[in-house]
Amino acid sequence: TKYVYDFAEGNRDLKDLLGGKGANLAEMTRLGLPVPPGFTITTEACRAYLADKRQPAELAQEIDTHLRQLEATMGKTLGDADDPLLVSVRSGAKFSMPGMMETVLNVGLTDVSVHGLAKRSGNERFVWDSYRRLIQMFGKTVCGVPGESFEHAIDSAKLHRGTTDDLDLDVDDLRELVSAYKRIFKDHTGRDFPQEPRDQLELAILAVFDSWNADRAVLYRRQERIPADLGTAVNVVAMVFGNTGSDSGTGVAFTRDPATGARGVYGDYLANAQGEDVVAGIRNTVALADLEQLDPASFAELVRIMNVLEQHYRDLCDIEFTIERGKLWMLQTRVGKRTAAAAFIIATQLVDEGVIDLDEALRRVTGGQLAHLMFPAFAATQIRPLTRGIAASPGAAVGRAVFDSARAVQWAAEGEKVILVRRETNPDDLPGMIAAQGILTNRGGKTSHAAVVARGMGKTCVCGADDIVVSKGQFTVDGTTVVEGDVISIDGTTGRVYVGEVPVQASPVVEYFEGHRSGEPLVLAVDRLLTHADAQRRLAVRANADTGDDAARARRFGAQGIGLCRTEHMFLGDRRGLVESLILASTAPEREAALAALLPLQRADFVTILRAMSGLPVTIRLIDPPLHEFLPPLEELAVQVAVAEATGTPHPHDVAMLAAVKRMHEQNPMLGLRGVRLGLVIPGLFAMQVRAIAEAAAAVAREGGDPHPEIMVPLVGAVQELEAVRHEALQVLRDVAAETGVDVPTLIGTMIEVPRAALTAGQIAESAQFFSFGTNDLTQMGWGFSRDDVEGAFFTRYLELGIFGVSPFESLDRDGIGRLVRIAVDEGRATRPDLKIGVCGEHGGDPDSVHFFHEAGLDYVSCSPFRVPVARLEAGRAAL
Ligand code: ADP
Ligand code: MG
Ligand code: MG
Repeated sequence: TKYVYDFAEGNRDLKDLLGGKGANLAEMTRLGLPVPPGFTITTEACRAYLADKRQPAELAQEIDTHLRQLEATMGKTLGDADDPLLVSVRSGAKFSMPGMMETVLNVGLTDVSVHGLAKRSGNERFVWDSYRRLIQMFGKTVCGVPGESFEHAIDSAKLHRGTTDDLDLDVDDLRELVSAYKRIFKDHTGRDFPQEPRDQLELAILAVFDSWNADRAVLYRRQERIPADLGTAVNVVAMVFGNTGSDSGTGVAFTRDPATGARGVYGDYLANAQGEDVVAGIRNTVALADLEQLDPASFAELVRIMNVLEQHYRDLCDIEFTIERGKLWMLQTRVGKRTAAAAFIIATQLVDEGVIDLDEALRRVTGGQLAHLMFPAFAATQIRPLTRGIAASPGAAVGRAVFDSARAVQWAAEGEKVILVRRETNPDDLPGMIAAQGILTNRGGKTSHAAVVARGMGKTCVCGADDIVVSKGQFTVDGTTVVEGDVISIDGTTGRVYVGEVPVQASPVVEYFEGHRSGEPLVLAVDRLLTHADAQRRLAVRANADTGDDAARARRFGAQGIGLCRTEHMFLGDRRGLVESLILASTAPEREAALAALLPLQRADFVTILRAMSGLPVTIRLIDPPLHEFLPPLEELAVQVAVAEATGTPHPHDVAMLAAVKRMHEQNPMLGLRGVRLGLVIPGLFAMQVRAIAEAAAAVAREGGDPHPEIMVPLVGAVQELEAVRHEALQVLRDVAAETGVDVPTLIGTMIEVPRAALTAGQIAESAQFFSFGTNDLTQMGWGFSRDDVEGAFFTRYLELGIFGVSPFESLDRDGIGRLVRIAVDEGRATRPDLKIGVCGEHGGDPDSVHFFHEAGLDYVSCSPFRVPVARLEAGRAAL
């Protein structure tokens, strides 16, 4: 195996092997852009190292060969006493994991070579600055020396100088700092800072490999659903120096505004600085546009290169660059992360510019992004903003202020909504960022750690709010103090920060679906890509809706019918009494009277829904939950009756009710008397519901509507169950047709939600005109765990152990539950080729699951009205 690739050998398609950074450095090299020479050690080498806990035999040799080549190109030797070559050692995995893994700069500086470089460059300050950076990064990354030790040392050097700016430290200060750093290094590691350049290089490379498994990297991957076994590549790059004086510097740039997609020059620049300084928020950066004044030639060159990259990648790119004494160097590029809104806008902009076609545009947006855009934002408010920061990641977040990551995690676990407030964030804050509703920082720009990570997670973030003073457990702005636990609101779209709870309002995208908004770039882009998705997709999208209002909204959101109308909601509220009398009925006439009283109410509900969905199918599920869910809880009632007995005579109704509740009590109600079982045990219950549906359909048809009811029987496990219900239902349908003189064609089908139903789907299809997968119950019964109990109990542990990467209630488990789905589809269609098959349950609106249902050959998915656009988009993407 070949473990090392020169930049000239790779290209952008080799991300699996070279990581994103390495593949793109190679691509830029091929494009003839000014990239410092270097080479990439593959992810394969990393995987081998991590598996065997030692580097593969050939690796060191291959590195030597490539290092010698690099030295030849540069005309310098690594760490040479007179004229040292220095390199950076940079992590770079297939998927970008901003700030999660390690990079060491200035490798090759030693007590000897530091003098050589000083003489060659004639710039002592820069050399000592570089050396102290090397010891700091190497100490922290390679040897686990706590970063604070170094930070304290540099802080006290600055204090000594009476300054807060690194740039005020002179050569002597820096030389002393190097001594202090070396002492710190020795105190913590028990040995001297390594003086052999090749050792430095090897140790740094292995440390980058190891950083793949650092806690924060593991957590980040879980959050972002990045597979745990990819490993990282390592890039060894000849150093170029932005810290040699005011004619040098380093910066980051975007080819378009990552927040809005607007074209222009976006980014941050910092003169006389190295690498991380820009993102670390150590000093205040200037806007990239200001570089035009500082160094017009480099600025022009940068703009030219940005155009080259945009055209080449046909997308927004982000860029890291360094200027060394007026010469521009490209250190990184990639297709840039962007906000959800910008993703839609940029994709359609690129279509208009003729750069990509609509299919490609559709590939570049996701249902997750669309879902994010459907979140509410703050309403106009009388509350005066406390302060303003940089709008780094959009959305509206309200919560209690907390000032450290652990506290955020703890409070969130207790059900509190929290906002994490930090001077600036670093990768150690990740757990708190995940737990928080939003993030507020005092320092750093749009490219700071907080901003980049928050955008990646779709989390609201305001950063660089430089009026706020953050101290332990509180922050202040102009005399207003916010302490831990105070509610604050932050607006990631405008950057505003408020004390107290600001009311939130609907998203523009939702308003557009509601027909209240049009014309602005975002809604135009969403409309265009959804229209294209609709044209491409094979899956129909229906909604789960129980009321006329929900049905109407679902239609506005593009639903092509109702895939699940639950009837149990219709038994609640003031109708509870009727259900109680049904349950308490001890004779047939009593029971019939109770059912007769429910009939007109149900009929009226169905009329509203069938009207709202005129022309489209409406799947109505007969009652599913166990009846005791409609009764008072056993303990409560028992106490009430006992108390009444002690003080006098209890009410006879209560006594009868208690007896009924006791009689119906179940140890495992989820596996008990519910669904079709209920229908077969309580005479007349299902017949009443079928009659209500048929009469409602007849009424809607008579008033000129076009009802398409579909009757769905829940929890069937055997064809005989369905056959019994169907027999009774057909009789009712015939009766109603005869009585009303209107014969509305009505399908009768079943849920597939008990594993046995999936496994006997061939038989069940004899009796069912359609299947609808109830994937919640199917998951629950397939895995044998109760959805209502698992989350707190053991899912966290299961996720930690990697038993599943995401809860199977969120994304369908393809291997297990998905197999049941496939079996049922295949065997059901073998019996009845025109069998209509859909899915109801929240998986129907989950992007990954939608792709699965497309592959499995379903006819439609059904999900909550708000997820309908997401499902439309993803169904379109699945069909590309
Ligand atoms: P990350 O993945 O966290 O961005 P990088 O590997 O890109 O880490 O490096 C961190 C910083 O160091 C970046 O700002 C990068 O531009 C800078 N850097 C990396 N290699 C070099 C180099 N050879 N010369 C100068 N700066 C470098
Ligand atoms: Mg970088
Ligand atoms: Mg169910």
